[in-house]
Amino acid sequence: MFGGEEVHITPGMQRYIDKNNAYLAKRAKYIREVVKKWKFDTIAVHGLYSVEEAIEDYQGAIIEPIFMSASQAYRDSDEMAAALAYLIPTWCYSRIANPSTYYYEWTLALLEAYGFDGETGCCSTSSGMAAIMTSVQPFLVHRTHNKHEPRNFLATAQCYGGTFQQFSIRLMQERDIDCRWIQDPTNIDEWASKIDENTRFLYGELPSNPAQGFFDIKEVADLAHSHGLPLICDTTVASPALLRPICHGADIVIQSATKSLTTSGFGVAGGLIARKNLVSNIDNDDMKADFAAYVKYLPNRDTGPNLHPMQAIMTLNDMRTLRSKMDLMSRNTMKVAEFLQGHPQIESVQYLGLPDHPLHELASKYMWLVDAEYDELYGRPVNRYGHLMSFCVKGGAEGTRKFFDGLQRIWRATDLGRIKSVATIPAISTHQQQGEEGRELANIPPNMVRLCVGGEHADDTIADLDQALNKVGATTSAAVGVS
Ligand SMILES: *Cc1c(COP(=O)(O)O)cnc(C)c1O
Repeated sequence: MFGGEEVHITPGMQRYIDKNNAYLAKRAKYIREVVKKWKFDTIAVHGLYSVEEAIEDYQGAIIEPIFMSASQAYRDSDEMAAALAYLIPTWCYSRIANPSTYYYEWTLALLEAYGFDGETGCCSTSSGMAAIMTSVQPFLVHRTHNKHEPRNFLATAQCYGGTFQQFSIRLMQERDIDCRWIQDPTNIDEWASKIDENTRFLYGELPSNPAQGFFDIKEVADLAHSHGLPLICDTTVASPALLRPICHGADIVIQSATKSLTTSGFGVAGGLIARKNLVSNIDNDDMKADFAAYVKYLPNRDTGPNLHPMQAIMTLNDMRTLRSKMDLMSRNTMKVAEFLQGHPQIESVQYLGLPDHPLHELASKYMWLVDAEYDELYGRPVNRYGHLMSFCVKGGAEGTRKFFDGLQRIWRATDLGRIKSVATIPAISTHQQQGEEGRELANIPPNMVRLCVGGEHADDTIADLDQALNKVGATTSAAVGVS
């Protein structure tokens, strides 16, 4: 499977290889002729776990079994030798792979590739941050014997606080890898001007958390590819139900499955989804041919950021209803945004769905509710802009905290994508660590509130916001109470 050590193949090993090649051919045919023809919802519900497989192998279990076993045993030395040389599919040891995470990975790979005329793979990770780390590291290796070879990459300055920390502290400060921040990702000249012969990849988060930055994926992917570089996109906020960057030319997609994919909020999980045969200026054919499998079986085997099988199945269970939940939460968010826009205590509202948002037109080019044309409610393509919005409260930092503390139903937490509405003040939470300058760079004023609207009826969410906002207007200099 991967180049490297010469393996002596015994006749016994060859029998296992032949048997498994027949299995792989059958699976490829099933994907091509059955699964790839399904609509998005069907893929989300079933993935690769079939009735036939359940009956034959798993006593008819309707839900994918949770394989709580650290390792896999083999029939004999031939099977073991073939498996450990990666000549046959194997899960081997749960740090490398596991049958439960396998089903999670396939569902995610297929959902991100929905509408894409090519193949994708997925490598599950213990968190979204681990997915980012394992996506970028293979591009940052030394290309020559010169261990002082300069390396750089480009990334959108408007990004998740953890991403900002990983790039600016772990990579820039601690490892001398230059992260060139893009201030205005809609300006293709800014991207182009920052690329040179030492650039390894382009990275963009969209819509960004919390500022809802956006860029033209196709334009940036074309630019990256013209320089032999991959484009990595973090579309955690949108989820594949609203945006699938690989369909527009991106090479790798990051998902923090903790967020939109797991509306129940049961735990932390992540994954990277990569197209086969991606573009890179690193001389490593295995990596380029199947990035997800490469990362899974080599670098991640050695670093261990693997996902727990229990978490994989719980996350998978949430993903089955992704499309309808993203639709509901998007519609609720639109209603809340319209309400806030008309409220006297509000300075400004940032939601990509509002026609006066400067990025509304660009976002409308990319953010569509998947399969709306096949949905009897719509029967045509419809734009949906997700559950993430932000707004600025009149009354400065103090007034903002007063409003925030007055919320009764909306949860105060640094979380997003929940079925329950959740709000935070980024300047004192998610973006506190990066300091005033970093916040300015990322466009985070102290009176900004990030709100993720959940599945509650929009009228009830609006009522909670209204009563909390009216408290700010009522008194001007009252002490801030913390509930
Ligand atoms: C939360 C988040 C991450 C990190 O994911 P974890 O699962 O919390 O590690 C990365 N990107 C975005 C956009 C996020 O919102």
